[in-house]
Amino acid sequence: MNNYDLIVIGAGPGGYEAALHAAKLGLKTALVERRDVGGTCLNRGCIPTKTLLHSAEIYHEAKEAGTFGVRAENVGFDLPAIFARKQAVVEKLRGGVEALLKSAKVEVLRGTGTVLGTGKVKVTNAEGETEYGCENILCATGSVPARPPIPGLELAMSSDELLDGAETLYKSLIIIGGGVIGAEIAGIYEAFGTKVTVVEALDTLLPALDSELGRSLAQLFKKRGIDVHVKAMVKEIGQTADGLAVTLEEKGTVCSLEAEAVLIATGRRANTDLFACDPPAMERGRILTDDAGRTDTEHLYAIGDIVAGYPQLAHTAEAMGVNAVCAICGEHLKRDLRLIPSGVYTAPEIGAVGMTEKEAAAAGVAAVTGKANTLSNARSLIAGGERGFVKITAEKETGRLLGAVLMCERATDLIQELAVAISAGQTARDLLRVIHGHPTFAEAVVPALEALEKKTG
Ligand code: FAD
Repeated sequence: MNNYDLIVIGAGPGGYEAALHAAKLGLKTALVERRDVGGTCLNRGCIPTKTLLHSAEIYHEAKEAGTFGVRAENVGFDLPAIFARKQAVVEKLRGGVEALLKSAKVEVLRGTGTVLGTGKVKVTNAEGETEYGCENILCATGSVPARPPIPGLELAMSSDELLDGAETLYKSLIIIGGGVIGAEIAGIYEAFGTKVTVVEALDTLLPALDSELGRSLAQLFKKRGIDVHVKAMVKEIGQTADGLAVTLEEKGTVCSLEAEAVLIATGRRANTDLFACDPPAMERGRILTDDAGRTDTEHLYAIGDIVAGYPQLAHTAEAMGVNAVCAICGEHLKRDLRLIPSGVYTAPEIGAVGMTEKEAAAAGVAAVTGKANTLSNARSLIAGGERGFVKITAEKETGRLLGAVLMCERATDLIQELAVAISAGQTARDLLRVIHGHPTFAEAVVPALEALEKKTG
């Protein structure tokens, strides 16, 4: 018998949004979670990192207060208090999600969910095992830090361990992996005075984004005293008398770096071990789906970090969850997964959406790019922001905007304007017709749009 119309396994941003949306559309919905509601994003990802980062920014600004004519003496920080605030923010948000689920009458089943077959889910917890029947199953089990096969890796911590109460201020920290997570944590710890070293195997930091972003970030990091090693392969991690040593090969030379602690941030492994039946088709350990989360098995959907071919981001998971529920209910898909903005919360921030000129060329589209630096942005100057840049790409023939990358103050918010314009099929001229307020951070896009308009005619 069917106990539910829908059972969602995993209560991260993908799973809980899907469950809420399903309940709103009248589906009798259960949500299975073995840890805390909110998943990686709320408990071990987006929210804790940005809360720590906010404290780091306040500390940095207080130290720099003299530049703004403000006297702040004996500026310091209390790391346990900073971590306690992070936990309070997490718990407040988690309580909010739990209250939403309760009022939407989504039944939260605590325990580990296993897919037994079509319409059959087992939940295992301290009280035993219970089987439930349902019309549709939605897998939203997310991901965990990847553990590459590096000898001595057990000596390193993952972002989970670091965020879960590492209240010690390391004198020095080596971060293996210069992607988004590694770059953000480097910024946080550098601000608190830790000697940070970032080791990245590929050519630039942030290898998934426009390479100019990674190169500029590496320059800024070096200026702030963060050591950056790119094209550097870690061979081994070992113990020393005072801490840890990382052996790496860089440009054909083997060398060793030492630090008090090592963080491994080399990507995330999808949690796909939830099938006691034939699993759906996968590619490199992640489930293959369409934009509505349909797998190759009827009535079995998958969304978020466990799915192949989409960026592992909280808003991707949420959007896929909403789309999957739309598909189950026979509605039009509500979210366009072809255009997913991404943000990196470094100083300055980074925002990216759509295609770069190189990606457009690879897709056979002739494109042009307008670029401008943000030196003349008054608001940024007032705030004492770093010099940054804005790059906007459009189809050469039609002028239709295709993508943008921003490295400037508030880039993670500003990118949204470009996402809206790209989604609406607008051109640089269309956007320039809209008056940008002054003095605002948002004005930073105008010079790049003007440069682009000249090229698209
Ligand atoms: P998850 O959030 O991973 O949730 C999956 C849930 O399923 C978990 O709660 C897990 O306990 C549960 N689960 C797993 N297996 C089972 C099972 N068998 N039974 C029951 N429950 C199960 N993204 C952004 O968009 N912006 C950011 O700023 C950002 N910062 C990040 C910072 C860090 C340090 C990290 C690690 C990630 C960050 N991310 C960020 C990525 C974001 O957290 C993930 O993309 C997002 O959480 C994925 O959502 P999800 O619902 O697919 O899975």
